[in-house]
This record gives sequence, structure tokens and C-alpha cells, in this order.
Amino acid sequence: MGIILVTNDDGILAPGLHALTAALSRLGRTVVVAPERDCSAASHSLTMTRPLRLRRHHPDWYGLDGTPADCVTVAVEKVLTEKPRLVVSGINPGPNLGDDINYSGTVSAAVEGALLGLPAMAVSLAGAEPFRFEAAAEVAVRVAAMILERGLDRDTLLNVNVPGLDAGRLTGFRFTRQGRRRYDDAIRELDDPWGRKHYWIGGGTPIWEGGEDTDEATLARGFISITPIQLDLTHHEALRRLRSAWADLNPLPEPGHEP
Ligand code: MN
Repeated sequence: MGIILVTNDDGILAPGLHALTAALSRLGRTVVVAPERDCSAASHSLTMTRPLRLRRHHPDWYGLDGTPADCVTVAVEKVLTEKPRLVVSGINPGPNLGDDINYSGTVSAAVEGALLGLPAMAVSLAGAEPFRFEAAAEVAVRVAAMILERGLDRDTLLNVNVPGLDAGRLTGFRFTRQGRRRYDDAIRELDDPWGRKHYWIGGGTPIWEGGEDTDEATLARGFISITPIQLDLTHHEALRRLRSAWADLNPLPEPGHEP
């Protein structure tokens, strides 16, 4: 039947991980390898300056004192006895949309799966506390079943964002592209008790751009957003332009013209 590898960035105790794993178990055996602690906004960092400890919490539930990307790579290379047929990351409490994908530990775990040549998806739930993960877990099962049945393009993962609505009120899904987000006022400059300045990143007001078919605009209309993300970060149009327009770029001084 094959194994579904489940992970997240919120840590092994996170309710979103438990709801996701319980639901995915209907599709076959699940194995969880998740960070021991909350690693939200860990992005794709790997831990290379200290050893990583793996702890077996229950059969098929492992905690690793590392990042989401650490979890996926250690799981696939060392923990699992066979290649998983799918990597699923989530369910994150809070959406992962637009530019935020770059910082997301939830999405990065799925990226790591794709880098290892595996089909992968990330699931995030919009809304606010208290998050209710049941409907999003059902969505995850539907999308996972589709991937298992029909496959995914190579070097691609799906970034799934579910609106914070009850199952009966979810109207459907849309395939979307990644939007753009600016934050106004995202960095606070504060004084510590000794009058020294310090900075705190977070908060701020997001300003979204990019149009109606973006992940953010689609979620705002109450649809489930599914964005295919590719590993190739090359801007192919820019590459073509650079090759012709910058053909005379030469880092070395011309002979006889040394400064
Ligand atoms: Mn998180």
C-alpha cells in the first residue's frame, strides 16, 4: 500500500497535525516525523551545526528536534523503511499565501519532499483561534487521494489553503497562482527598559496585490485555493533577456585597459 509521510512546522503536539494524520489514515498507513517544537516561519532551513535527536512518541509517531525540512529528509533517508508515496505537511493554523510561502515552514516541508522526488502537498487553514481542523482535514484527504490516483508533475507540490468555514459552507475549490503581499508597518522599533532600541518583526497590515486568480483573492471569496508550486526558481523570461541584453557583461578588464 505504501506510506504517507506526515509532518508540520507547528510541532508534534499541534492539533492540526493530529487531525490531518487521523484523516489521512483512511488512505493507508501514515508515519509522522514532525519537529519537537514550533518551527513556524522556519522556512527551508536545515540544522547543520548540531546533531538531531529522533524520539519515538508512539508507533509511527516520531519527533525530531529540528526543522520541518530536517524532518522530511531524515524521515525519507533514515526513518522510513520504504519511499513514501506522498508527503503531506500541515494543517497549519493560519494561511500560507503569496509571498509568505517563502517563509513558511509548512510549505517548506512539502518543498523538501518534492526535492527528494516525491509527490507533496502543504495544507493550511485560514481563520482565527479556535481553529477547527476537521473540514480542512477532509479537504486534505480529497486532494491526497487525487494525487495518489492521478500523480503530480515532477518537481511540483500543491499548496492548499482552506477557508475557515464549516464543511457544509465550503463552496468548492479553485486552482490559483501565488499572489503578492506587502506589509505596512511590519517591523516595530521599540525601546528596552534601558532605553536601547530593538526591533520586532511581525504584525503589520498585509496589502495584497496580483488579481482575482491569486491564492489570496480566491480564499477571500470563500473557495479552497490549490496552487501548484515549482522547485525551479529560474525566471525564464529574464534569463532569455539577460542572455541577449547583457551579452557584453564581462567581469575582466579588456587587455590594455587595466585601471
Ligand atoms: Mn506554523
